[in-house]
Amino acid sequence: MPRDYYEILGVSKSATEQELKRSYRKLAMKYHPDRNPNDKTAEAKFKEASEAYEVLSDPQKRAAYDQFGHAGVNQGGGQGGFGGAGAGGFGDIFGDIFGDIFGGGGQSRSQGGSRQRAQGRRGSDLQYNVEITLEEAVHGVTKKIKVPTYVNCKTCHGSGGSGKQNCATCHGAGSVRMSQGFFSVEQTCPSCHGAGSTIKDPCRSCHGTGRKEDVKSLSVKIPAGVDTGDRIRLSGEGEAGEHGAPAGDLYVQVHVREHAIFERNGSDLYCEVPISFSTACLGGELDVPTIDGKVKLKIPAETQTGKLFRLRGKGVKALRGNSMGDLMCKVTVETPVNLNAKQKELLDQFADSLGQHHNHAPKSKSWFDNVKEFFAGN
Ligand SMILES: [Zn+2]
Ligand SMILES: [Zn+2]
Repeated sequence: MPRDYYEILGVSKSATEQELKRSYRKLAMKYHPDRNPNDKTAEAKFKEASEAYEVLSDPQKRAAYDQFGHAGVNQGGGQGGFGGAGAGGFGDIFGDIFGDIFGGGGQSRSQGGSRQRAQGRRGSDLQYNVEITLEEAVHGVTKKIKVPTYVNCKTCHGSGGSGKQNCATCHGAGSVRMSQGFFSVEQTCPSCHGAGSTIKDPCRSCHGTGRKEDVKSLSVKIPAGVDTGDRIRLSGEGEAGEHGAPAGDLYVQVHVREHAIFERNGSDLYCEVPISFSTACLGGELDVPTIDGKVKLKIPAETQTGKLFRLRGKGVKALRGNSMGDLMCKVTVETPVNLNAKQKELLDQFADSLGQHHNHAPKSKSWFDNVKEFFAGN
């Protein structure tokens, strides 16, 4: 008379699924044949526990067992009628219950379909740094670049050769069992990378890998408005995959070179415009550079150094959308240098004409007042 399944697993009749699992796991660890070589008693206990768990973990079988005892689940009749499950079904419960600990077995079994599709490793992604001028960033540019990479072999068109044969390492399974502790864990076959087959006549040109080192020439369209740090992704332009597997992507990283005249801040441009002392006093018009050529800038009379003039729409177009940035011109009044005697005399006369009146010097008045207050306060 076989022992009671609940008794074998050491749980009560009302045990939950979790309790059953925990208890079975403990027994399986203890009596596993790998751990108890040539121990018939351990082997018998292991089989017994597996059989009990197989039945009790299945709600239908458990219900039948609860109602009819062993007769309820021994459809085959007689002793060992259930043996088939002990041998064949055993692998599945085992994978199911231990798959989550070792990350092998059960999981890779369920992913068998995708493994067959993966013929080789996908190519790596690549990054290429490209340096462009500010003018190119503003207008957009197409750059020809040369990228050292792997490309599909031209001789075998990426297949790696002709004729397929079952992989000798995994015998076509795509995976191999590796011993890890006293458990064996299923791993992707290192010889065929999970494809299950190898090539009979490897291509001589690429030694069967399906790809070769080469320098790929590409035209990269860089859109108007890009800035340093922007990245352009070229899907499938990275390294070719092995054995015709998908290629990686190519990321083109943009660096905008510094400009001699303009400084950029987002979509605005800044530049410094020197003006003469007399223009600052009397006003005038001067040519200022923009990225698209010169424009006239009107300088009003009595312009102070440091004043900012905004030229709308003369900046950089935003990368997304159509908004345009502005050009900010900061004027600096230049102090005349290399003056001759005559010019110095004229300046003296000019200074005399101004006298001590602060109404010719808008900043100085408030500045001197502040200084006076500062000393008075100390
Ligand atoms: Zn080839
Ligand atoms: Zn293999």
